Amino acid sequence: MTDTPRTGVLIVGSGIMGSLVSRLLREHDPELDITMIDGGQTIGSAPGLHLHDVDDPVLWSRYNEQVGTGIQGMYVGAEVVREVADSLTVLTPGMFHALAFGEDAEAMPATALAWNAGGMGVHWTAATPWPAGDEVFDFGDPARWAADLETARRLLTVTPSPIGPTEVGRAVLDVLRRRFEDVGPDDRQPQPMPMAVTPTGSGPMPRTAPGTIFKPIAAGGDPAFTLMTGTLVTALLVSGGRVAGARLRCIADGTESELRADTMVVCADALRTPQLLFASGIRPRALGRYLNEHAFITARVLLDLDRFGIGLDALPLPRVGEFCTDSLWLPQNGTAQPFHGQIMNRTYMDRSGSPLAHAVGLSLLVPVESRPENRLVFSESETDLAGLPRISVEFDYSDTDRALIDRALAEVRSMAEEFGSIDPTTELALLPPGSSLHLTGTVRSGATDDGTSVCDPDGRVWGFDNLYLAGNGVIPTAMAANVTLTGAVTAVRAARAMAVRHNALATH
Ligand SMILES: Cc1cc2nc3c(=O)[nH]c(=O)nc-3n(C[C@H](O)[C@H](O)[C@H](O)COP(=O)(O)OP(=O)(O)OC[C@H]3O[C@@H](n4cnc5c(N)ncnc54)[C@H](O)[C@@H]3O)c2cc1C
Repeated sequence: MTDTPRTGVLIVGSGIMGSLVSRLLREHDPELDITMIDGGQTIGSAPGLHLHDVDDPVLWSRYNEQVGTGIQGMYVGAEVVREVADSLTVLTPGMFHALAFGEDAEAMPATALAWNAGGMGVHWTAATPWPAGDEVFDFGDPARWAADLETARRLLTVTPSPIGPTEVGRAVLDVLRRRFEDVGPDDRQPQPMPMAVTPTGSGPMPRTAPGTIFKPIAAGGDPAFTLMTGTLVTALLVSGGRVAGARLRCIADGTESELRADTMVVCADALRTPQLLFASGIRPRALGRYLNEHAFITARVLLDLDRFGIGLDALPLPRVGEFCTDSLWLPQNGTAQPFHGQIMNRTYMDRSGSPLAHAVGLSLLVPVESRPENRLVFSESETDLAGLPRISVEFDYSDTDRALIDRALAEVRSMAEEFGSIDPTTELALLPPGSSLHLTGTVRSGATDDGTSVCDPDGRVWGFDNLYLAGNGVIPTAMAANVTLTGAVTAVRAARAMAVRHNALATH
């Protein structure tokens, strides 16, 4: 074993969560040896750059076409693809339905995973609403929660009001404010959607992505940081209450190797983080359980311009390089207003660029109860396309969930009617489970090792001293809002705990 290569910190996954951990560890120690491993390959010229911001015109226009619906699931393809490729080597890097990856995901048919360097972070829309009320998991320390959320906002470059409101967007917000006044505090009234973008004076606004969170991912230049793409971690090497390192497989030629590490963090998404633990024989009772995803209702209504006294020539045009004119937010406010609203408005134009109509795109995300029976089950005998334990998704809505979904369907229809006339059979839909791509709970954190959690509040796996987890799977609460900012808090916590551990090791 003496020849086996060694690293200080091994990070599995080069998405937003892995990049946050690497950035914070680097801020802590400029010389810490960090190796980041991702099974996917680079899309475009450099790993981890957002497709919204790449120079390649083909990649750029494909991205903008796919993202234009404003609905995550439709980005992957409205058609759920069930055909599984023959091998990983033939896959073009990108997003794939879990079904197309060989998982048994019929109970959540629209769910998808990233198979590319930078993970979903090179594809995401970048809406970053902040969590409140029952979404928060501060483990009795609200001050630390607030500080960690602030760190996550800083690293993601969350900007309060980047896209709109235009004059027309203001009219939309006025309706929402009238409708939802008195249901929440001032800072949770309908407002522009905070987004993880860098504001610019004109033209497109660059999205935050792994390669901007931790620049060496895209640009290199950090001698103590190594990014290995096209390399699958097939197992963690467990030795007593520690992980000694990981077993790796090169996707291109199938070569197997090992890498030793002092500390490991798995940031491989809410499906594949528990899958890797299972494959490594780490199987706490809560592993894969409490799978959660908010239900996704979407509607689109043409704004009745006469009703609002708006002329065609007053319709806003999107900024060059942006697809919507306004990105707005209806925050959840507990039982009085339990839904998270994401509103993305567009102006339709004729070939000459003259406005034809304005659409209000209303999505309501409905929180779903966290229940152990909603879960991922990992096969002992079958494997998926990556050769890892095949995942079966068991997921259904409870009676409480169904009642709330019905309430949301009525709410979104009534909201839409405030803006124009809507045909609910064609312009309003409850999307299939998995559509939000916001899976949570499968490696949830908890205050005690009581069988309902996989890791402690810092993401340290119960019973292990050097194995951490970060990402949406660690979130233990039922989320209404888009989850990435909240998931980023788990990365902040894990990075801090790893830094403390590293200090302790250094002083021994
Ligand atoms: C089109 C789209 C729009 C979205 N919009 C929003 C939004 O507006 N707001 C929001 O909050 N969220 C949004 N999301 C979700 C958001 O992108 C994710 O929550 C976030 O990027 C997850 O980051 P992650 O690092 O946890 O996981 P991922 O980005 O999935 O990264 C995990 C990485 O791990 C790698 N990996 C997995 N298993 C292994 C293994 N065994 N060995 C090696 N590598 C492995 C994968 O290849 C992948 O690159 C959107 C997602 C998409 C696709």
